[in-house]
Amino acid sequence: MAFTLYNTLGRELQVFRTINPGKVGFYGCGPTVYTYAHIGNLRAYVTHDVLVRSLRRAGFEVTHVMNVTDVGHLSGDNDEGDDKMVKSARERGKDVLEIAGFYTLAFFTDTERLNIEQPDVVCRATEHIGDMISLIRRIEANGFTYFAGGNLYFDTAKFPSYGELALLQLENQKAGARIEVDENKRNPRDFVLWFTKSKFENQALVWDSPWGKGYPGWHIECSAMSMKYLGEQFDVHAGGIDHISIHHTNEIAQSEAATGKTPWVRYWLHNEFLVLDKEKMSKSSGAFLTLQSLIDAGYDPLDYRYFLLGGHYRSQLQFSWESLEGAKNARKSLVEKVKALAARAKGGRGNAPAAGNAAGASKDAGTYLEAFNRALEDDLSTPRALAELRGLLRDTECEPGAALAAVLDMDRVLGLNLEDAAKSPEEEEGVIREIEALIAERSAAKKAKDFAGADSIRDSLKARGIILEDGPSGTLWRRA
Ligand code: AMP
Ligand code: ZN
Repeated sequence: MAFTLYNTLGRELQVFRTINPGKVGFYGCGPTVYTYAHIGNLRAYVTHDVLVRSLRRAGFEVTHVMNVTDVGHLSGDNDEGDDKMVKSARERGKDVLEIAGFYTLAFFTDTERLNIEQPDVVCRATEHIGDMISLIRRIEANGFTYFAGGNLYFDTAKFPSYGELALLQLENQKAGARIEVDENKRNPRDFVLWFTKSKFENQALVWDSPWGKGYPGWHIECSAMSMKYLGEQFDVHAGGIDHISIHHTNEIAQSEAATGKTPWVRYWLHNEFLVLDKEKMSKSSGAFLTLQSLIDAGYDPLDYRYFLLGGHYRSQLQFSWESLEGAKNARKSLVEKVKALAARAKGGRGNAPAAGNAAGASKDAGTYLEAFNRALEDDLSTPRALAELRGLLRDTECEPGAALAAVLDMDRVLGLNLEDAAKSPEEEEGVIREIEALIAERSAAKKAKDFAGADSIRDSLKARGIILEDGPSGTLWRRA
């Protein structure tokens, strides 16, 4: 079976064909770092992680690029409202870059706890202003812009296929548009490429540009950075469904206007929302749950990862504490089954469940693995993939060694740390002794001012999924 993905552009399942055979350029819109990510945002990044891991499993060489928005994102995606970063900095009495640094770290702490693999390139908007200015100059040179009231706008009327991704009814757009606050726009859907200080008198971060001192619009950063790292056309772009009608629509318009090449991106993937009490979980409303709040309530971040994998990324997922509790119990039972299987595979008796496979005749491990792969290749069906894993663990007729190898192989995509579960108590003790010895070695290196040596121990442990946290009572460690 070929790898298929649901492409928002065209609204259909399509066989995945890359621009360069065997290689995938993937850009996922990253966080705006003005506050903590909420658990809905984290659904988007678990989706990206499953996509990347599934493509790699299917044999593709993937370059995953993610931006970090630290300038230019207003509370309304349509150039309305406050600048999210500036407002947050003002409220917290800090400067914008301090805020960005703090929440960027918090974001990557969360993604690490959720076993989300680090993208190959993480790029900050404030470090790519020159790339954005160059791209805007190309758009301008091609005749797609106008300057009004101190801002440079993209003129959507000049781009005939504007709105294709979102299936916008352009002829109705003026009548149907919300009351527009920006009187400089010729058309409600036009958007700012470059703001000068006309919008916010106290904008903290401004740069020189051909249009005056100012700062970029939010959409342009994703076009400029994705093209810088992936080329003028690439394979996959992803984000939540809220980005279809404005952010991604505008990214397409400005990118194709700059290069004249179409399609800019072949496949557009959008995850549905995680909802709380049937409402969109919104970062700007302030009432949202963070991963830390789940941890504080006694849940492991992987309980949440398991909960997310239980839903298909294109279905809305309703969050409740009861369903998180259900995921916690299901993951616990999974871990226990993996422990029992590992014991049987190593020749012990384990805790073998009652005989046979509840679902029917026993299959060999390879059959489960095949079905698991097919599920992922079928538009990333993690619920079906999880069902195959559970089926395999229920099937006591399956040869334990092969079954265990298949389970661990499946976990390369699921990211549930099942390898740890498979370790015997003796092996686990050995690992703990080794980690503690390395921590002692690192402390000695630090005392001797050998900071490079100390960092290299920290990094080598990190590469094994062991995170060190220095505190007043010494160094503590935990698994990522
Ligand atoms: P932001 O930091 O607001 O730019 O959002 C980061 C990512 O989270 C984007 O891809 C959004 O589309 C996505 N997102 C925002 N809210 C939710 C939600 N409740 N459920 C799933 N994804 C979301
Ligand atoms: Zn983006």
